[in-house]
Amino acid sequence: MTAYLDHNATSPLDERVREAMLPFLDCGNPSSVHRVGRAARGAVGAAREQVAAWLGVQTSQVIFTSGGTEANNLALSGVAQTVQPGRLLVSAVEHPSVLVPAKALERDGWETQTIAVDDQGRAQPESLMDGLSADTRICSVMAANNETGVLQPVAELAAVARTRGVVMHTDAVQWAGKLPLRFADTGAHLLSLSAHKLNGPKGVGALVVDKALDLEPILRGGGQERGLRSGTENVAAIAGFGCAAELAANEQAQRRAHTEGLRDYLISRLAELHGAKVLGADAERLPNTVMFALPGIDGETTLLHLDRHGIAVSSGSACHSGSGDPSHVLVAMGVAREVAFSAVRVSFGVGNSRADVDGLIAALHTLRKRMAPLLTG
Ligand code: PLP
Repeated sequence: MTAYLDHNATSPLDERVREAMLPFLDCGNPSSVHRVGRAARGAVGAAREQVAAWLGVQTSQVIFTSGGTEANNLALSGVAQTVQPGRLLVSAVEHPSVLVPAKALERDGWETQTIAVDDQGRAQPESLMDGLSADTRICSVMAANNETGVLQPVAELAAVARTRGVVMHTDAVQWAGKLPLRFADTGAHLLSLSAHKLNGPKGVGALVVDKALDLEPILRGGGQERGLRSGTENVAAIAGFGCAAELAANEQAQRRAHTEGLRDYLISRLAELHGAKVLGADAERLPNTVMFALPGIDGETTLLHLDRHGIAVSSGSACHSGSGDPSHVLVAMGVAREVAFSAVRVSFGVGNSRADVDGLIAALHTLRKRMAPLLTG
């Protein structure tokens, strides 16, 4: 049996979500006029209502996409195509699905500028203020970081951006389902979501769009999703996302309490491992995430050791695993390279228990013992 402690990479499909998807895996194109098509259209409409109710928005504001990556790309490119090229501000700790498209816009005459973060990984409103100039048009700062779980002051950042007429986007992929989420409270014009981080299926997400905002599509064709995302809808996945959103709305408080308890228990037990350091420890963080460093032991070594013990975690973000660079998030926080290389991320879900934490700590003690001759030189 695997103790799965990697929910920020992806989370298990909720049984109720699976049930909601099953009737729509088969035939039915929402654009078809006949009854089979109408049934599929009804499922997409119902899911849109579930997502809209969860976030407190109108259904017309929810654009289904293939996931968080596409939502982030659509947000940045979609706005960039409607205005004169200028400056685009992104925090230094964004997910690659924001950083890479932001960089790519430079080919169209945009200038990407990075907002620095403090040693806890937070982009402060003053840093945004300093970075703003007359030609700043877009700002993108994530709600919660996928690696450290550190929360950003998005509402404050959005307030600054709005006073200067800057379009604010927030990637709420990791926040969603773990903490209360109302679109209006974020102050953002655009907000990205991904279903598989909240016990929904992979390959579906959404971009939530301010009613007054103009956006150009990145995928053109049949005109689905108000023309903002052409392509036959992934009906089963969208139905699953709708169900996952409703469950998140109803059960988020219990999930939070459960995972927060495990997070705090893990942090207290990490004290047994001399030198273990929680990263971003002084910042507000997601209830389910702990990123810690075991100095002297490479994160990949820890990950593989834990895997052999049936425990699934990440070293840095899943996207960094296998690459030779330390996490850009930790580098931006000014974390020393050797500490960054030893970082491991644990992210809990509702299916985890204290026994999983006990197993993890026991396996880390074993690793420490095995590595001791190397550590002492
Ligand atoms: N944004 C953040 C913060 C993420 O953690 C991820 C996935 O790890 C994504 C975006 C991409 O989402 P998706 O996997 O749905 O493309």
